[in-house]
Amino acid sequence: MLEEVVKKEFGITLSESTDEQIYHALLKLVQQRAADLEFTGRKKKLYYISAEFLIGKLLSNNLINLGIYEEIQGELKKIGKSLAFFEEREPEPSLGNGGLGRLAACFLDSIATLGLSGDGVGLNYHCGLFRQKFKNNKQQEKPNPWLEDDSWLIRSDRAFKVSFGDFDVDATMYDILVTGYGNGTNRLHLFDLDTVDESIVKKGIEFDKKYIQKNLTLFLYPDDGDDEGRLLRVYQQYFMVSCGAQLILAEAKERGSNLHDLADYAAIQINDTHPSMVIPELIRLLMAEGIGWEEAVQIVTDTCAYTNHTILAEALEKWPMTFLTKVAPTIVPIIKRLDKDIRDKYPDEEVAIIDRDDRVHMARMDIHFGHSVNGVAYLHTEILKNNELNAFYQLYPEKFNNKTNGITFRRWLLHCNHELADFLTETIGDGYKKNAAELEKLLTYREDDRVLNRLLEIKENNKHRLAEYLKETQGMELNEDSIFDIQVKRLHEYKRQQLNALYAIYKYNEIKKGKKPVRPITLIFGAKAAPAYKVAKDIIHLILCLQQLIESDPEVRPYLHVVMVENYNVTLAEKVIPACDISEQISLASQEASGTGNMKFMLNGAVTLGTEDGANVEIHELVGNDNIYVFGEDSDTVIARYKRGDYRSKDYYDWNKKLRKCVNFIISKKMLKIGSRKHLLNLYNELITKDWFMTFPDFDAYIEAKEKIYADYEDRRKWAQKMLVNIAKAGFFSSDRTIEQYNEDIWHL
Ligand SMILES: *Cc1c(COP(=O)(O)O)cnc(C)c1O
Repeated sequence: MLEEVVKKEFGITLSESTDEQIYHALLKLVQQRAADLEFTGRKKKLYYISAEFLIGKLLSNNLINLGIYEEIQGELKKIGKSLAFFEEREPEPSLGNGGLGRLAACFLDSIATLGLSGDGVGLNYHCGLFRQKFKNNKQQEKPNPWLEDDSWLIRSDRAFKVSFGDFDVDATMYDILVTGYGNGTNRLHLFDLDTVDESIVKKGIEFDKKYIQKNLTLFLYPDDGDDEGRLLRVYQQYFMVSCGAQLILAEAKERGSNLHDLADYAAIQINDTHPSMVIPELIRLLMAEGIGWEEAVQIVTDTCAYTNHTILAEALEKWPMTFLTKVAPTIVPIIKRLDKDIRDKYPDEEVAIIDRDDRVHMARMDIHFGHSVNGVAYLHTEILKNNELNAFYQLYPEKFNNKTNGITFRRWLLHCNHELADFLTETIGDGYKKNAAELEKLLTYREDDRVLNRLLEIKENNKHRLAEYLKETQGMELNEDSIFDIQVKRLHEYKRQQLNALYAIYKYNEIKKGKKPVRPITLIFGAKAAPAYKVAKDIIHLILCLQQLIESDPEVRPYLHVVMVENYNVTLAEKVIPACDISEQISLASQEASGTGNMKFMLNGAVTLGTEDGANVEIHELVGNDNIYVFGEDSDTVIARYKRGDYRSKDYYDWNKKLRKCVNFIISKKMLKIGSRKHLLNLYNELITKDWFMTFPDFDAYIEAKEKIYADYEDRRKWAQKMLVNIAKAGFFSSDRTIEQYNEDIWHL
């Protein structure tokens, strides 16, 4: 197969080709095959608009989806090359940040796999989020340019004009082909400006935020610590949705729509509030086509649906009207009229779009002028209905629905854990690859020692592979016989990496006192912190200082290892997750909307240690009490305490000696010798005066749960049974199931 491509492209044989020529040929081959399978002739199409698409590397996944992975592997082997080499060589597109962006990527895979016509719509960030470096036990941010001459991007011939307040720009649309597993192909559309100039990036990730023509698509989530940064985000958002809206209308017309019937031709899913301005923009464009106000509003409402991803107040975007007036003056009168219509109908300040401070509440606009509002896990949706968005639920109970998140099993099992996937195929057949529910067949092997031992063996092999990889890429020395206890996800106080770090301190002190664990423990962290999020960076500093302290302590090092992997991204996740024994999902109950990391770990045979939060609740229900470790206060208790506003972390600190000792350790002599007084003291003070995400009330329960799970790990047969049940019950979390539900309830493709 490749042989023909290099012949056509370069006029040579495969064995004469350089690595770069082979890489080029691999991309070409996949793109040709994928393009041949594009969905055409469908009337209605979904547009999934999102500021992020954390798609990960695409080569292997595309080969798997196109069904030519083995063949290509064999062809390369014949000339003495390995596919793995080219997988490593591929840069990871840096178009996302965390779970929300990864979800969008899983959804695109499932949409194509289910044979649905649906495209992604987003931006082509040249330097992505940022690449994380550790220096002096602190995070540094570097640009992450990922675009190369040979890349998955295809420049399309569609072009759009976007009018900002002070100037116009000409947008270019790039496409990445999205293959389905054994099915057709969709596209991810990424808008860009030809004038963007990477050379304006100076020290770290700093750049001139004023020069929009040069900086518009440089970075995902530019620092919003100042007005210029916030304004730039609004420019990005309006640029994305203006291009998106123009594309949607142009394509709908090409498919035969007269725009009055747009909702029969297009479904738009608004992924969090970043794309919310698509609503007024579409109304504007429809009115420019001669459609009246009321009809335009109705068409847009029938077409758009909104997904809420968080209840954290700071994440619900509210833009000052002055910003919108500067960036997108043509939609300002539309937003004002929408606000007036709502105020006329519902004289309740809480549901108004424009508040008294003249700020536009993006989520409120989505809820009023979309036909569906969904949360991303059962508990999250209940909290939206009963608490955060209750005023809206009262108005529109019929709009609210739950869509528990999912993950694509192609990437998170078939691609990242070949050994387990092959073993599953041998044991239960390969039906599970298309129908994830078939994983339950594994339950019949619960007492089968051969199967149980093989699961343990595969885990050992994956731990070995991870150890090798981290040694090679990050110079780490992991003890493969230790328990791999892993917390990898974005750094946020609500996710409570600080609680896990306090445990590390507790264990360190225990070992110093002579209480050695039966088996060594490796606590693995991986997390990027938002550049302007000080406390998050202080937590990274704490973890890195603990790593250094323990690594240089010969008394403790044989029993406890704390490591933080640098630059956690999809590529690393694919190596880390199959190697995990214990999956840490310890967010403060009520705060994690769903989580999807928890699902990836479960699918790969890790056992969850978690709070009753997000999709953990559903994992718990599926696997039962014996196969998950839950601890901590429940969401009702937490929500009630927030409502009362009477949480005083200092009280817990004063009563609880064990806790106090660990917290004090943060600013102990030992730590101050390694770390920065300023940062450690900041964190210490943050914890004893605020601890906004309530780590202290859960501290004792967490330690108890950890000790229990470590002890239970020693009964290897029982542990293997827990692994087996987790894998067997993971089918529900296939994003194929999630997408079927979106389509059934919202999109109707
Ligand atoms: C799945 C994933 C996430 C989301 O993890 P959570 O634990 O759900 O927050 C973040 N980053 C990467 C790279 C992922 O693959």
